[in-house]
Amino acid sequence: MGEGPVPEGLPAYCDAAVPVPVDQAFTYSLPRGLAAKVRPGCRVVVPFGHRTLSGVVLRTHHDTPDFEVRPISRVLDEVPSLTTELLRLAHWVAGYYSTPIGEVAKAMLPANNQLRYKKVVSLTRRGRRELDSVMMPVGIAMEVLASLSKRALTWTYLLQKHRGAAKALRQMQALGLVTVEKKLVSADPTNSRSALLMVEASGAGLAPEKPSAGERWLLDYLARHPGRHDVRALAVERSDAVRMARRLAKCGAVSLEAVVELGRVEREQDRFQLTQSQQTALDAIDRIVSAVRFKTLLLHGVTGSGKTEVYLRAIERVLERGRSALYMVPEIALTPALASQFFTRFQGRTALLHSGLSPTQRAEQWRAIRSGQAKVVLGTRSAVFAPLSDLGLVVVDEEHDGSYKQSEPAPRYNGRDVAIVRARSAKAAVVIGSATPGLETRWNAETGKYELLTMPHRINQRPLPKVDKVDMRREFSETGQVRLFSRAIVKAVQQCLARREQAIILLNRRGYSTHVLCRSCGERVECENCSVTLTYHKREKHLQCHYCDYSRPIPRRCDACGKQYMHFHGSGSEKVEDELRRCFPEASIARLDRDTVKAKDAFETILSAFRAGDYNLLVGTQMIAKGHDIPNVTLVCVIDADVGLGLPDFRAAERTFQLLTQVAGRAGRGEKPGRVLMQTMNPDHYAIDLAAGHDYDAFYRRELNFRKALWYPPFTSVATILVRSSDLSRAMAMTSALDQHLRPPPKGLRLIGPASAPVVKVRTEYRFQFLIKALDRRAVGQLLGQARGLALQQEWPPTALTVDVDPTDFL
Ligand code: ADP
Ligand code: ZN
Repeated sequence: MGEGPVPEGLPAYCDAAVPVPVDQAFTYSLPRGLAAKVRPGCRVVVPFGHRTLSGVVLRTHHDTPDFEVRPISRVLDEVPSLTTELLRLAHWVAGYYSTPIGEVAKAMLPANNQLRYKKVVSLTRRGRRELDSVMMPVGIAMEVLASLSKRALTWTYLLQKHRGAAKALRQMQALGLVTVEKKLVSADPTNSRSALLMVEASGAGLAPEKPSAGERWLLDYLARHPGRHDVRALAVERSDAVRMARRLAKCGAVSLEAVVELGRVEREQDRFQLTQSQQTALDAIDRIVSAVRFKTLLLHGVTGSGKTEVYLRAIERVLERGRSALYMVPEIALTPALASQFFTRFQGRTALLHSGLSPTQRAEQWRAIRSGQAKVVLGTRSAVFAPLSDLGLVVVDEEHDGSYKQSEPAPRYNGRDVAIVRARSAKAAVVIGSATPGLETRWNAETGKYELLTMPHRINQRPLPKVDKVDMRREFSETGQVRLFSRAIVKAVQQCLARREQAIILLNRRGYSTHVLCRSCGERVECENCSVTLTYHKREKHLQCHYCDYSRPIPRRCDACGKQYMHFHGSGSEKVEDELRRCFPEASIARLDRDTVKAKDAFETILSAFRAGDYNLLVGTQMIAKGHDIPNVTLVCVIDADVGLGLPDFRAAERTFQLLTQVAGRAGRGEKPGRVLMQTMNPDHYAIDLAAGHDYDAFYRRELNFRKALWYPPFTSVATILVRSSDLSRAMAMTSALDQHLRPPPKGLRLIGPASAPVVKVRTEYRFQFLIKALDRRAVGQLLGQARGLALQQEWPPTALTVDVDPTDFL
């Protein structure tokens, strides 16, 4: 690596974003050997204090700084990881979400960008002499030396190979027989660059008669995930996947192809004739795309109106024009059917980006996108940073979904909003769609900021399901009993089973009982680390905290008074499952919630079995409400429509309305009409009543009035500041210092608080909260900057202050 002046024409310095909680970039000099390689968007390794960090180059330049700078030590990319467009986006995200640029850059990159080191042990000359001087290596030290005689080995490897090697190595290091060096692990999967080897199932008849375990695994995988797959990505799941693929290719059970140029899009067999409103929507999108113009379109279509088909056709047109497309969904695992549709339609051009991928898979996908091989990306929130070039269309499906908002770590961005900003700078069309658009979104359409496309009817004029509310107060007064299922639900499920149709049963609360208390003294069993009650999980036989995962055995006696009157209160999805089994012993029942989908692929397995008709009833939390299209589902039962209404969140009613509308939308999507029953104690609450009436517009108007009166979005911008410390008095001191620092707030801005957060203690930390509401968004940014300035100046720990712009979570 050259010393001395950089040749003329090449930049002498670069500014790099480094993942530290400071708003600025840092300047480094460029050694002669690297100056030509460093371009904006490249990842570089730089010294930072006593540490070595990786960062992203924001710009290169000749402006000699008036302070001493250190040189960068390595460049990790030949092709910049972030395009100019993405760098621009990084600056926007950093500014809007009040997050240090280094943290933003880190969030945008594919793989975990942390540097990894390994300790490498090698023999010194002295060590070799020592080894040569003995006839036979005896004893642990000599054995280790002997293994090192051919080449250097890692510390970890040696420990695995030789028991007790650690001590021996340390002694030999002291004696100068071996040296131990820390080396940067350079196996960066992003840089693997050979052509993709794609595998695909090809006709079942050709499978080997007695496939080996590995072959069976691969055939199975391909059956479950139709379409073409990168073999090396599969090798992450099973190390011999490549070998198995070659073996199966020989006998013709799979086809194997090295992808050099892009495959053609094959047309699948049956194509629907688009409905009039689908066609109108498609044309509107296409107009924007063909004009290479930015525009946000809201596709507001009822459940089952055929929105997905519109998106897929719009993407096809974009590809035909040689541009690329991004399709965002809240959670891929929840929509497995969609992924396979993508693979069938767009084949080798599709890349997937979601959190279920291993780092290697993710890096592979990223590379395929960056190189232009993949022109369509299907992904979750973070896919908004996919390095697609020539972006023509972004689709944000189920735009109202809370998963688009990242809560931890920073940047706490909303993928939908970043998508819109990205589309603007790429001159792309962005379509955000939902049956229940967020209030802000619909408002933006109403005020002309977005173009509104509506699809008010289901495909083939199928009716929306008939919804009945079941008043549980009346149920109690008439039966004198507290039961989980009303008589109406029991009857409806019986009829549904008799017709051999399927039902979805929602209770948006997991576990068996939501709290455990002592009947004698009233003591509740709470978490040790958080100020919440523990939930009883029957199958796992313990009480569990839903905030920190703390768990403890089920107490026989009360911790406070010692009496044996522990009482289990409140019901969750696990109890619903149990009760269903008791009431309908002849039915086969599956449950989908976070507890049953812990295992990899569990969600897909359960859902596809339900789709195939293996189960009659599917019970679960909100994850069963999302997007699924299962024609034989004719009944949806909501066990407690009021869950969530009491939450301290200005969106509580909106969320309830959305959830109820979405889950109702799962019923009657096929030939047979659907029916929905909602049990509630508040049948007159507008969120429940209007969801039951399929009346989005009325809900929208009503909610809008409330938002206006109380200064909430879309009429204001909102942000929160959270102050945290495990020391209560420290938390309070910081909070009051911040309060003084921020007051008086500027005009047009309301600073509410400080107050203890709704859950004051989480993971042993005490939390205090400020709420900011402002007419002008810039004022919010300034105030947040001021808050962060204080934290920096007072050297608060980096975790002490959390700022959240457009928060969706107030707990
Ligand atoms: P949404 O996303 O609006 O809830 P989907 O896109 O899931 O609705 O469509 C509902 C169902 O209608 C799907 O099974 C889909 O295959 C089918 N479908 C979509 N468009 C048409 C069409 N033009 N003709 C017939 N069936 C269609
Ligand atoms: Zn806890």
